[in-house]
Amino acid sequence: MTQEWDEEYDVVVVGSGGGALTGAYLAARAGAETVVVERAGTLGGTSAYSGAAMWLPGSPVQRRDGVADSTESARTYLRALLGDAGADKRESFLAEAPALVERLEEDSALAFRFRTFPDYYERPGRVPGGRSFIPLDLDPGEMGDLLGLVRPPLDRDRAGQGNDESAPLTAGRALIGRLLLAYHRTGRGAVSTDTRMAELVATSERVTGIVAVQDGRRIRIGARKGVLLAAGGFERNEGLRRAHGVPGSAGCSMAPAGTNTGEAIEAAVAIGAATELMNEGWWCPGVPMPDGQPSFVCGFTGGLVVDAHGARYANESLPYDRFGREMQADPDRTPSYVVFDSRTGGRLPAVTQPPWGDPAAHLDSGTLVKAGSLTELAALTGVDAGRLTATVERFNRFADNGKDEDFGREADEFGHWFGEPVLRPVREAPYYAVRLVLSDLGTKGGLVTDASARVLRADGTPIAGLYAAGNTSASFTGPFYPGPGIPIGTAMAFAALAAKDMTG
Ligand SMILES: Cc1cc2nc3c(=O)[nH]c(=O)nc-3n(C[C@H](O)[C@H](O)[C@H](O)COP(=O)(O)OP(=O)(O)OC[C@H]3O[C@@H](n4cnc5c(N)ncnc54)[C@H](O)[C@@H]3O)c2cc1C
Repeated sequence: MTQEWDEEYDVVVVGSGGGALTGAYLAARAGAETVVVERAGTLGGTSAYSGAAMWLPGSPVQRRDGVADSTESARTYLRALLGDAGADKRESFLAEAPALVERLEEDSALAFRFRTFPDYYERPGRVPGGRSFIPLDLDPGEMGDLLGLVRPPLDRDRAGQGNDESAPLTAGRALIGRLLLAYHRTGRGAVSTDTRMAELVATSERVTGIVAVQDGRRIRIGARKGVLLAAGGFERNEGLRRAHGVPGSAGCSMAPAGTNTGEAIEAAVAIGAATELMNEGWWCPGVPMPDGQPSFVCGFTGGLVVDAHGARYANESLPYDRFGREMQADPDRTPSYVVFDSRTGGRLPAVTQPPWGDPAAHLDSGTLVKAGSLTELAALTGVDAGRLTATVERFNRFADNGKDEDFGREADEFGHWFGEPVLRPVREAPYYAVRLVLSDLGTKGGLVTDASARVLRADGTPIAGLYAAGNTSASFTGPFYPGPGIPIGTAMAFAALAAKDMTG
């Protein structure tokens, strides 16, 4: 059997986001010789770009900060939102979350702190100020040579620049850096970058390894205990998006270019795995940057959003996934326009990632238009002038009175998190408009897995030796994004469960 492989490990982890590295670290810590196989030249994928909020309720991190969070209140919240759908996975997630955080914090490389950021729905069990937490920033000096393995910050990465060796690693890069450091220190963790998994190898009984492409050469990597697929979704694959009816487009996704094209999902399907939720994503509005790529809008601090006709259609301060769903409800909402006035000096009144930047660059590239009147702005954007003017006048009345009678923008805690007041009038010329497109943080449909992250066939039986986590697996949250840190928190918890199942 050994001669069959170019390399052989106990555990093979495909992908290197927050879920993958958590699974790899815990497997190696449990004594398993482990390899992380990553198609890109650096580790971290979309997780490295992220804010690294982790929704792992009931853990010591929330307790230290006196947050009114608990496993029970999180269960109440999830049940109120999701009903009984995915109850078995919900329960294994809730049971695993505190235990996982305790185990991670035993390692000095892994340190977390609570940060307020409200949950996304007003439902029983919602905790004021939210319950998610983030990693502590990391000194690049602690990483040593490993720093070069971490995906650079979003804006530098897109510009083809590497890591700034003097800048602390923050947010997603701090999470990836810390997990990589911990993994490396186990002494049993290998990393193979520029290595793309293409196929799974299976006997009639179990998955035994993978076939990967490295330097144009196919290599066979054996997995004595199992393979964990945590290779993102298929958000960067336009063909698969169309085949499964995923709204938006590959070019508007926030995942790093050249990464998540769904190969891990397809490889598992080729050996009999079932999929579900394949038309779903973690949505957000996005604004095009001068280089044509999207910037994720996670909170408006002013302005209003209108559709192709000049009409408002939703509370702009909705959490981003919910606003993305509003955009999908009508084709005339993509693109939409953010309309704002001169109070911000031409700066987009929104919190974005990457930062939206200099208005002059946007005016030059046409991603921002400016006009002396609303009528002129309507002509520049192609929306109906009369409708736009009436919409803005009505909105201004709401702003003056502090009450949005159409969509209740002032009502929810989430909108207030980005700055006060939530409603600001738009009446000081010149006026500005920015195109708003449907973007995503990744697809969320994928392989059907059970409460231990084992990949299932359509008949519900597990494929022995095969596990999935993160956006490679179908999320138990269905069409909901309950709160900040759900994608990464659930990816980490299910990867941990996979590692436990593989290593006993
Ligand atoms: C700006 C931004 C902020 C965000 N903030 C948060 C947040 O605070 N909290 C949160 O929970 N979520 C957040 N998200 C969403 C979150 O980052 C993603 O949903 C999540 O990281 C996806 O994790 P993943 O492990 O499934 O995929 P990824 O993190 O994208 O990792 C997948 C990896 O697999 C690799 N890969 C793909 N195919 C192969 C293959 N065939 N062979 C080998 N390797 C392969 C990819 O190159 C990639 O490195 C944010 C997203 C963005 C863009």
